[in-house]
Amino acid sequence: MLAKARGHEVALYEKRKRGGCPNKNSEKPHVCSVMEFTGDRNMELGQTVLMVGGGLVGAEIAYSQAKKGKKAILTTRRTSMFEVANDNSSPMQQRLMMKLKEYSVDIRLGLDLKEITDDGAVFAGADKAMTEIKCDNIVLCRGYVRNNKLYKELEGQVEDLYKIGDCVKPNLIGDAIHDGWVVANRI
Ligand SMILES: Cc1cc2nc3c(=O)[nH]c(=O)nc-3n(C[C@H](O)[C@H](O)[C@H](O)COP(=O)(O)OP(=O)(O)OC[C@H]3O[C@@H](n4cnc5c(N)ncnc54)[C@H](O)[C@@H]3O)c2cc1C
Repeated sequence: MLAKARGHEVALYEKRKRGGCPNKNSEKPHVCSVMEFTGDRNMELGQTVLMVGGGLVGAEIAYSQAKKGKKAILTTRRTSMFEVANDNSSPMQQRLMMKLKEYSVDIRLGLDLKEITDDGAVFAGADKAMTEIKCDNIVLCRGYVRNNKLYKELEGQVEDLYKIGDCVKPNLIGDAIHDGWVVANRI
């Protein structure tokens, strides 16, 4: 987000929220969000790690865990292997999918998270049948929602106020740069 205050341009950005889980048990100690996982460099996960969410981030974390010798399980609501990790560029997706295969990441398609238990998670499949997956840790990689709280607070208080990047909609780095470029051309 860009704001103009007292004649100066200042850049302000908005934080992402914790990857949302519909389940109140997501506060369980063996469960972490992507931001918690990536923010804590010393976080060591157990031998069997379940990534919930088959976007680029979930696939990258699954790869990194499998590469460490862990049993990595990746679940996604997506129903085709072509859709897994397919949020960015197609060459990157293809390379990552090859790595997931090489490191035997267990990819389970068409699973919708219903409940987090003390030792795993329960999912509903496309046929509504429930599947339980046991694991030591869960990383919630279910995407982000925009957070425009700061923008709302500043609205009407600063001369020029613009939303850019993830504050508008969680997206890719290139999109945030493009948003900034468009605003910079206007002001
Ligand atoms: C794990 C992960 C992997 C990703 N991988 C890729 C990838 O491979 N390729 C890709 O293109 N995109 C990727 N993305 C998406 C990319 O990171 C975002 O699209 C991009 O960072 C958005 O830029 P932004 O400036 O809007 O927000 P951010 O990069 O989130 O920057 C926000 C900044 O504002 C600061 N801030 C927050 N609140 C305030 C406040 N009140 N006052 C002052 N400062 C504040 C924050 O500390 C932060 O530094 C990934 C995202 C995640 C979470």
